[in-house]
Amino acid sequence: MLETVIRDGLAILRLDSPPLNTLTVQLLEELRAAVRRAEDDPGVAGIVITGGPDHFSAGADVQLFQQIHSDDDAIRLSQTFQEAFQAIEDCSKPVAAALAGTVVGGALELAMACHRRVAVQDARFRMPEVTLGINPGAGGTQRLPRLIGVEAALRMLLKAEVIPAAAALQGGLVDALASREQLLDRAAECLRDNPSPLRTGQRTDRIADRTSCERALQQAASSLPANRPDWIAPQQILEAVRTGIEQSFQAGLVKEREAFARCVATRGARNCMHLFFATRTAGRVPQIEGVAPVPVHRVGVVGMGTMGTGITHAFALAGVPVVALDANPAALDRGRERIEGSLRRWVQLGRLDDARAEQLLASIHTTTRAEDLSEADLIIEAAFEEVAVKQRVLELLETLCRPDTILATNTSTISLDVLAAGMGRPERLIGMHFFNPAHRMPLVEIIRRDSVAPEVLATALGLAKRLRKTPVVVANREGFLVNRIFVPYLQEAFFLLEDGAEPEAVDQAAVDFGFPMGPFVLMDMAGLDILVDAQRVLQDAFPHHGALSEIAVRLVESGSLGQKSGTGVYRYDPGDVRPHASPATGRIVDEVRRSLDRSPGVVPSEEITERLVLRMVNEAFHAVQEGIVQRDSDVDVALVLGTGFPDFRGGVMRYASDLGLDRVRSRLQEFSRRCGERFAPGRLLLEKKGRIE
Ligand code: NAD
Repeated sequence: MLETVIRDGLAILRLDSPPLNTLTVQLLEELRAAVRRAEDDPGVAGIVITGGPDHFSAGADVQLFQQIHSDDDAIRLSQTFQEAFQAIEDCSKPVAAALAGTVVGGALELAMACHRRVAVQDARFRMPEVTLGINPGAGGTQRLPRLIGVEAALRMLLKAEVIPAAAALQGGLVDALASREQLLDRAAECLRDNPSPLRTGQRTDRIADRTSCERALQQAASSLPANRPDWIAPQQILEAVRTGIEQSFQAGLVKEREAFARCVATRGARNCMHLFFATRTAGRVPQIEGVAPVPVHRVGVVGMGTMGTGITHAFALAGVPVVALDANPAALDRGRERIEGSLRRWVQLGRLDDARAEQLLASIHTTTRAEDLSEADLIIEAAFEEVAVKQRVLELLETLCRPDTILATNTSTISLDVLAAGMGRPERLIGMHFFNPAHRMPLVEIIRRDSVAPEVLATALGLAKRLRKTPVVVANREGFLVNRIFVPYLQEAFFLLEDGAEPEAVDQAAVDFGFPMGPFVLMDMAGLDILVDAQRVLQDAFPHHGALSEIAVRLVESGSLGQKSGTGVYRYDPGDVRPHASPATGRIVDEVRRSLDRSPGVVPSEEITERLVLRMVNEAFHAVQEGIVQRDSDVDVALVLGTGFPDFRGGVMRYASDLGLDRVRSRLQEFSRRCGERFAPGRLLLEKKGRIE
C-alpha cells in the first residue's frame, strides 16, 4: 500500500493503492509508521510523500462513510484522519507532498499537513465534500484558510471550486510547479531550500486580518441557498472555519469533528452519498463486462447548431480531435466563435492558459465537405430533428466511412429503430443523447438497441467517461429516460395554471423544493415549441400522459416561444433575461380557464409541489416497469444530472422511497380521482413494497 525508498538522504513515501490511492485507515497507519521510521533514521534529512507523476490520491475512501452508524463512529473516523495528518505536520524533519492529477478532499488535506507542496503543471485541486452534504473532516476547514486566506478557502469549501495548478501556485496552495519528470527532484530541492518545517496549523499570516476574515465569512453566509433544508454542511463549514480563526487551530479541529458527525447524520448527506455510489454504477453494463472499447482517436460531429457546437466543445476540452461538419458555413463560423469566446472567458478566469486555449481550438477542424469525416472512428450526428434528414446523413456516413466506424445520434425523440431500418450496419448505431449546453451538462444518455454490437456500447460508454460525463444506459423508447419523466412535470405546470395557480407561484414552489429554477422560467429558456414537439411524441407513445394544456398550445401558436421571442409564459425586456408577468399570457390563461369553467384561485403550494413531483415519480415507475433502465438508481442519477432535480433529495426514486410508497400511492390515487388518469399509479408502483435502494 505504501512503498518507501531512501534516496539521496530523502525518504520517498509512495502511496501505492491502485487504482485511485484512496485513503483508508490502514493506509493512514502505514503512512504514520513510515514517517516515524524516517524521522528516527539518521540517514534521512527529509520526507517526500507522493503517489507518482500522474496521480496523487482521490482522497478518503468513500466506503468508510458506509461504516458510520452513530455520532461516535463519525467523530472517531474524523479524529483518526486528523491525528494521522497532525503526526505528519508535527514531524521534526521537513515533509513535502509531490502532487499530480486531481488532488481531492482528504488527499488535499494530507498535502496541506505537509510542510511544502510541489505539483505537476496540470494538477488540479478540489474540496468536494460539500457536494456530498458533509464538511471536510481531516483538518481541511482549518488548514485551507491558513494557506490561502479565508475568502479563497470558502470558495473551495462551499462551492467545491476546482483550482488549476497555476492558480494554486498564485494563491499559495502549492509552493512550486514542475514537469512530471522533474516532480520528485523539485520536491527534493524545495526541502533542501527550506530545511525547517513550516507547519500549516501554526501559521497565522493569512488569517491575521480579522476584519477581512469576518467580511468573507459574512459574505459567504449571506449567499448560502435558502432552499436546501437538511443541507447543513455549508453552515457547519462556516462555523468550523470561524472557530479556528477566533479561537484556535485545535478548537477548530474539535468543531470540525462535531460538524462532520452532524452532517453525516442528515438525510441530505445520506441521499448525496446514495447518488455518489449510484453515479459510479450507472455506466456499468454487466453483459459487456470485459468487452474492449474500440480506440477513438478522432471523432466527427454532423450539424454545428446548438448541440453540435456544445458537443464539439466538449470533445476539444477532453483533448479528443474533432471534425465538425455543417451544410451551412455560417453555422460553422457561429459555432467556432461560440467555442472560442467561451475558451477566452476561461483564460480570463485563470482556468486555462493562452497556449492551451490555442491548442484546444486547433484540435477542432470545421468543414462543409462530408469526405473529411471519413477518418473519424466515431461520428455523432446532431442535425435537424427530422427523420428524413437524419436518415440521409446516416446513409451518407455509411458510404463514406470505414465499416467499423461507430455512428451515434443525438436525437431527442426519434426512435433509433426508425433510423436503423435504412442502415446497412445497424448494429453500429447507438444513441448518445447530450443535454444543452453539452459542454457543461454532466449527463449523457446512452441509448442502446437490443442488437447493438457490444463493442459499440462499450466505446460509447468509454467516450462519455473520457468527456468526464456520467453515462446512463437507456433502452430505446420514446423520450428515452429524462425527457419521458421530466416532460410530464413541465406539462403539469400548465395544468396548475388551468386550475387557478399563477406562474410565479408554480415556479416558486419548484424552487422551494430545491430545483435551481421553476418550470416556466426553464421552458422560456429552452423554448416552448420544443416542449410542444416533445409532448406530442410522448403523448402518442404514452396515452396516459394526456394532451398538453391548451395554454401552452396557444402560447406557441401566438408566437410566444420564450426568451428567444421576447415573450413566453413571461415577458422579457430586450437584452434582459429577467422574467416579468406577461399580460398576453394572463389573457390566454383567463380564456382557457373560462372555457374549462375554472376560476382563478389559490392552489396551495404544497399541492403544487406534490403534483409536479408526483408526475415524475409516477412516470419513473412506469419506465422502470418497462425495463428502460438497468436499475432504479439510474433514474436518480439521470434526473439529478439532467434536470436539476435536487441532489439532497437523492433523485426521483429515492425521494419516493423517503416519502413512503404508501403515501405516494395514496396521493397519486387522490390526484387521479381529482385531476385525471395521468396520476393513476402503474402496476410496479402498486405492487412495490418496502424501500427502494
Ligand atoms: P440546430 O437547428 O441548432 O442545429 C442543427 C444543425 O444541423 C444546423 O446548423 C444545420 O445547418 C445542420 N444540418 C442540418 N442538416 C444537415 C446535414 N444534412 N448535413 C450537415 N449539417 C446539417 O439543432 P440543435 O438544437 O442543435 O439539435 C440537433 C439535434 O440534437 C436534434 O436531433 C435535437 O433533437 C437534438 N437535441 C437538441 C437539444 C436541444 O436542447 N437543442 C438537446 C438534446 C438533443
